[in-house]
Amino acid sequence: MTGHPVSELVVHQDAVRANTAFFAERTGGRLMAVLKADAFGHGPLARAVVAAGAGSIGVTAIAEALAVRSEGVDVPVLSWLNPVDADFGAAVLADVDLAVPSAAVLHAVVRAAHAVGRRARVHLHVDVGMARDGCPPAEWPALCALAREAEGTGDVRVVGVMGHMSCAERPDDPQNARERLVFAAALRTARRRALGPAVAHLAATAATLTGAGDGYGVSRIGAGLFGIDPSGTTDVLRPALTLRTRVVATRAVRAGTGVGYGHEYVAPGDTTLALLPLGYGDGLPRAAGHRAEVLLAGHRRPVVGRFSMDTVVVDTGGQAVPPGTVATVFGPGQDGEPTVAEWARWASTIPHEIVTHIGSRVARVHRTTRDGSTQEEHRG
Ligand SMILES: *Cc1c(COP(=O)(O)O)cnc(C)c1O
Repeated sequence: MTGHPVSELVVHQDAVRANTAFFAERTGGRLMAVLKADAFGHGPLARAVVAAGAGSIGVTAIAEALAVRSEGVDVPVLSWLNPVDADFGAAVLADVDLAVPSAAVLHAVVRAAHAVGRRARVHLHVDVGMARDGCPPAEWPALCALAREAEGTGDVRVVGVMGHMSCAERPDDPQNARERLVFAAALRTARRRALGPAVAHLAATAATLTGAGDGYGVSRIGAGLFGIDPSGTTDVLRPALTLRTRVVATRAVRAGTGVGYGHEYVAPGDTTLALLPLGYGDGLPRAAGHRAEVLLAGHRRPVVGRFSMDTVVVDTGGQAVPPGTVATVFGPGQDGEPTVAEWARWASTIPHEIVTHIGSRVARVHRTTRDGSTQEEHRG
């Protein structure tokens, strides 16, 4: 079966489109689709989310923004995480908006815009309480003043103000109110310095679903587009990935047989083991050992023993499963297969980490459903 990949990550574009449409509706059309980290591991989706109602796209590094541009979308694309010596000129030439968290980055953007002879569109980024990226509130008035000065030379225009909330998945946390106040004050300061940002954006998925970030124009939605609800408050979002592989070999073993490194699993009775060609090198979290299951030939079966880099072993409970049989590692869950959320629980992590870790040995297959027909497009 040359040319037929053994392991596939199927991206259900119809699910991403439905989730996007949900958030477009929820935000009154003011949705920035966050496609960082290769669209949370889902691959190129810029055109799909724009078609489904996203008005702009957000990513971290400039390289990601240029990749989005090369997908051929003409909506605003924002890049919000760059070192001071990043290639801001390339971003400006590609019409990429830039987040500015500091005077140093502002100066670099001004210089780059001047050099390429184009005006940079910037979003000033205030730290509302993450102590991560964004301008500390104490330095915010000075940054606004500098940005206003820079507008005067024609090299930049402040088109947005952004902040990012730290505790929005807990709507009752008093930190949310504090962060809303910091953001509101930052916006007032920007306006007092004669800046006229057309958009302000504070809320990501959790704050949008719980209302903790309400009151501002645009929502930056990442996880939710991929069916992940960090707030645990909705059940309408659809998971968008299926990871499947095929059994490469099986063997019958006697009771007492130790399996894999360290013999952490010893077969309690005579049984059959199936070898799957996926391991932690492909993103299966090793920490899920002794808990994980897969769907194999119609049954949930336990993954047994330690995860290897390239393989895991499944105890079929004595069922004969011919090599080549499809094993579903995770999927939307409709057919009894484990979900990404279950894998995250087994590994004591969050679904975001599971979906962004699937490795490059796994072929991505983008599936779009139109008129009830199924079309698969192999990429990468
Ligand atoms: C990742 C990220 C988002 C998207 O967050 P989700 O919870 O995935 O919706 C929004 N804004 C910033 C600054 C981010 O880093």
